[in-house]
Amino acid sequence: MEILENVDVRDFCTLHSGGKFRYMARVSDPVDLKQVYVFAHEKDIRVLPIGGGSNLVFNDDVLNVLALKDEILGFDILAEDDDSTTLKIGAGENWDKFVERVCSMGLSGVEAMSAIPGTVGATPVQNVGAYGQEIKDTLIYVDIFDTINLKYKTLLKEECNFRYRDSIFKTEEKGRYFITSVTLRLSKKTPEMPNYPGVKKYFDEKNITSPSLVDIRNAIINIRASKLPNPNQIPNVGSFFENPIVDKSIFEKIKENYPNVICFELDNSKVKIPAGWLIENAGLKGHNFGNVSVYEKNALVLVNNGGATGQDFANARDQIIKIVFDKFGITLEQEPEVIKNN
Ligand SMILES: Cc1cc2nc3c(=O)[nH]c(=O)nc-3n(C[C@H](O)[C@H](O)[C@H](O)COP(=O)(O)OP(=O)(O)OC[C@H]3O[C@@H](n4cnc5c(N)ncnc54)[C@H](O)[C@@H]3O)c2cc1C
Repeated sequence: MEILENVDVRDFCTLHSGGKFRYMARVSDPVDLKQVYVFAHEKDIRVLPIGGGSNLVFNDDVLNVLALKDEILGFDILAEDDDSTTLKIGAGENWDKFVERVCSMGLSGVEAMSAIPGTVGATPVQNVGAYGQEIKDTLIYVDIFDTINLKYKTLLKEECNFRYRDSIFKTEEKGRYFITSVTLRLSKKTPEMPNYPGVKKYFDEKNITSPSLVDIRNAIINIRASKLPNPNQIPNVGSFFENPIVDKSIFEKIKENYPNVICFELDNSKVKIPAGWLIENAGLKGHNFGNVSVYEKNALVLVNNGGATGQDFANARDQIIKIVFDKFGITLEQEPEVIKNN
């Protein structure tokens, strides 16, 4: 396997900004993983698994990592009964191509997660989800390479500790496992329409009362396209900020001046406020910070207008956080992972 040096990161992330990887390799066969990790141990450098680079923000340094691009393919039916089909999918497969394929096979469970960029292998990392479905709902197990003892093994769903946009791969065991395949059980039953006003409106307008899987997939693709820029055309990483969780009293105070503010109630004392609402109502929707803009159709997304550096994104992020804090007293946090030298 070829290990390259000083490779431009901009070709490996949907934000198209950042510096260089000290080392970089591509893996298409899990047996090669051992060799890469032995090399990295010898160089005392960390391995960074990379899928589509759609949830990563790089700074502009020569990054002290060995970036390992996941190109492990595979699509195997392991079992089938009257109600379901169990599939093992190579971690480097494109997620949305996979969703398209299973929808056309009449298998449900992932259709509401259509049009999410990236690879199959990255979906367990933050328990990817959209429109009421999460990868944990259909996942049975993942095959992994354990980089501590250099052994291949299987982790059952119960061992992954999936939570909202979180799992052991993102927190407790971050960096320990390279995911080589994901095994899902998908349903042959009639799919359920996602219970979201935008989806209902879409089908009402089309007079569709019992949508098929392909109808649901098309609805999601259309709705998402009206809100999110396609990273192949406009570089971005989707939501740039997490939705902050705050005390209800803070929400009530905002409501006094902004009666249209919305929130999702979490319990008796805490609510989640959409970060996009805060940024928009701080007057920043469509605002330019040099080469970085707040997307004109969705204030939660930052886009690269061409030539933006990692530092440009850091500056824009910090200014947005300050302006929102000054206006609402709430501190936003960045959602995608930042890759930098210590
Ligand atoms: C326009 C847009 C819309 C989006 N919408 C959603 C959405 O609706 N819901 C949602 O949940 N996310 C969404 N995202 C975020 C992103 O697409 C997902 O997090 C996706 O799963 C990332 O996949 P990736 O292959 O690009 O991962 P990368 O960005 O390459 O990596 C993400 C993390 O996973 C790790 N990783 C990647 N592959 C492996 C592997 N094989 N083994 C171990 N670790 C690995 C990386 O090291 C990194 O920590 C969106 C992003 C964009 C740009």
